[in-house]
Amino acid sequence: MKKVSIVIPAHNEEGNISLIYQRIKAVFSKLESYTFEIIFVNDGSRDNTQSILEEFSRNNEDVKFIEFSRNFGHQPAVKAGMDFADGNAVISMDADLQHPPELIPELIQKWEEGFDVVLTNRKYPKEISYFKRKTSEMFYRFLSRISDVDLKAGGGSDFRLLDASVVSEFRNFTEDDLFLRGLTSWMGFKQTSVNFLAGARNAGESSYNIKKMMKFAFTGITAFSVKPLYLAAYLGFLFSALSVVGYGIYVIYSFLAKTEISGWASLIMTIVFFGGLQLIILGIFGIYLGKIFKQVKERPNYIIRSKNL
Ligand code: UDP
Ligand code: MG
Repeated sequence: MKKVSIVIPAHNEEGNISLIYQRIKAVFSKLESYTFEIIFVNDGSRDNTQSILEEFSRNNEDVKFIEFSRNFGHQPAVKAGMDFADGNAVISMDADLQHPPELIPELIQKWEEGFDVVLTNRKYPKEISYFKRKTSEMFYRFLSRISDVDLKAGGGSDFRLLDASVVSEFRNFTEDDLFLRGLTSWMGFKQTSVNFLAGARNAGESSYNIKKMMKFAFTGITAFSVKPLYLAAYLGFLFSALSVVGYGIYVIYSFLAKTEISGWASLIMTIVFFGGLQLIILGIFGIYLGKIFKQVKERPNYIIRSKNL
């Protein structure tokens, strides 16, 4: 019998735990040659997620939990589950049933065909807001372009299956600002992907808002690319060149028009413009510097308060 570990990060998911457990159990009851364990990672929930998990794990030996000491974020939660999972394959999925458990047999089938990494491509149904669909699509296209990592396949989803050999490689990664989607793609091995239709969230609210999504976007870009640093330099060159040309035209114009008092407006505009440009470039430098600062402290990705495995 092969064992499949299912890692589910849960942040305020009290309304979903029972249902996702039932759906997964139903799926595995039809897969005769596999056993499963579900590792719920309670990422600092403020609702009853923890007490529900404790009760569930008392009554069902295939349910395990890891409780974080506070909210560390979705990516560290998935990482923690993978660090403790001992299945022959590890599947990560969201708690809110936007990742259909019914796709698991297909993931396992691809794995049995010899793939080490089975990614999923999220196709959006109409109920998901146009804004979220478009921003997600644009983000991954932009990310693939600006970094050297191809994130198109399965880019938009943390629903994936990893072979135990890939999971054990992941344990060596303790880098700050974990970006598992990028890392998975970067790691190589034999990869494939399957499509699924993302449903709407079952109970509770999305933990992601615009601010968190922006932060996630910057994490994704700066964790995988130094291109923005070059961008800064290119921009600097471009605008210097433009200003020389523009200023040349202005000088010729004022010579021809015989304007005696040289323009205060053009001067102040040049100063403001270059001031802004320098701030942008400094900002880009700052983001990377901040990453180095966080990384050199080598803090753990998460802290566990309690667990039953
Ligand atoms: N999640 C988490 N920690 C967080 C935010 C989210 O563990 O700080 C979990 C959440 O419980 C869910 C998954 O990550 O299982 C995806 O989160 P959510 O559904 O809120 O994001 P969305 O689907 O809206 O992108
Ligand atoms: Mg969700």
